[in-house]
Amino acid sequence: MTKAPLLKDDCFALPAGVNWTPVDDALAHLRAAVDVVVDVETVPTVNAGGRILARDAIATRSNPPYANAAVDGYGFAFGGHTKAMPLVDGRSAAGEPFEGRVPAGFAIRILTGAKLPEGVDTVVMQEDVSAKDGMVHFGQGLKSGANCRDAGEDVLQGQPAVKAATKIGAAEIALMAALNIPTIQVYKKLRVGVLSTGDEIRQLGEAAEPHQIYDANRPMLLEMLRNWGFEPVDLGHAKDDRKAVVSALDKAAKSCDAILTSGGASAGDEDYLSTVLAESGTLNLWRIALKPGRPLALGIWNGVPVFGLPGNPVAAFVTTLIFARPTLLKMQGAGWQVPQPILLPAAFEQSKKAGRREYLRARINADGKVEKFASEGSGRISGLSWADGLIELPDQAMQLKTGDPVRYFPFSGFGI
Ligand code: AMP
Ligand code: MG
Repeated sequence: MTKAPLLKDDCFALPAGVNWTPVDDALAHLRAAVDVVVDVETVPTVNAGGRILARDAIATRSNPPYANAAVDGYGFAFGGHTKAMPLVDGRSAAGEPFEGRVPAGFAIRILTGAKLPEGVDTVVMQEDVSAKDGMVHFGQGLKSGANCRDAGEDVLQGQPAVKAATKIGAAEIALMAALNIPTIQVYKKLRVGVLSTGDEIRQLGEAAEPHQIYDANRPMLLEMLRNWGFEPVDLGHAKDDRKAVVSALDKAAKSCDAILTSGGASAGDEDYLSTVLAESGTLNLWRIALKPGRPLALGIWNGVPVFGLPGNPVAAFVTTLIFARPTLLKMQGAGWQVPQPILLPAAFEQSKKAGRREYLRARINADGKVEKFASEGSGRISGLSWADGLIELPDQAMQLKTGDPVRYFPFSGFGI
């Protein structure tokens, strides 16, 4: 009797394209499905770092508010200038303007930031002239209007200075301070709950049996949410039990705008998250053509969207960056945002089949090439910490050779 051939490890893998949702289709679907869900509140501009602007911030004055000198030097009317000009009495300094008029053919001592006095439209740098005995002497090459800043050349009063949906950072705070915008309207922080599921899960600091594991996903996800400016809500942990999952979701839906769960999202016996979402009639179990992180269970619990992420920490990490982040940002009012890749030469070779997109834990080496983590094992959480970003391999088949360009997404582009 001949022996049956051994089953190959991937014998149950579905053929490419059958029932697997491409990443881009899943993203397009999510983008169309959600909108802003948070209210607007007024906050002091100086405290608004990290918040999302809900309405354009309008300049209450121009920047600069008045024409002024860009350097320390001497100001005069370009039309009437000669190689040697007498200086008028007095000077114009920042905060101490010269009140009079500078007659044509005369120059005035002027300092950086000082208002241009009447009659002055050009400033020569002090390093380019010699001044003595009440006269200023200079050579050729000066242009009309040199070293002057026009009123409003940066921003005009009444113009939108910062657009709605912008995340407020140091630069925006500086601009709005310069434009005398003391308060702004921002979106309230999106409250995003994080729930872990699984009978094997223990909390950090608790005792654990050898068959138990510590909850890595919840602290990881809570930290990501904090980085993105949301209000993280720790929903704790639910056992693999229908009632426990239902009561955790009931509670969560009262206090959260969105819920991230990890584990129990597949279609197995112990996958209660997808089971109860299915019972609520809102489950979409997406089998995404993505490695790592294929199952993504999406549902609505009492009106609140639930992202059922894979339990595997590496898969939860990647699916959160790729799917949950842009969706939550849109719900927060920041608009749909996906990071821009950097094209960098690969420090490795790789071939892949068509049919799914792959993300590899990666970082840039000393030669400016991108290396991938030694193992693609999705249980290898250390690889996340080793990496500074992800390489994206396309849905199509590819034969990557060392030095070929690859799409690299630094973690900083994801805001983590
Ligand atoms: P599941 O999606 O529930 O089948 O879980 C897939 C794998 O991820 C299993 O090995 C789980 O033990 C593991 N896992 C699930 N939840 C977590 C968690 N919160 N932290 C670390 N590993 C987890
Ligand atoms: Mg589980």
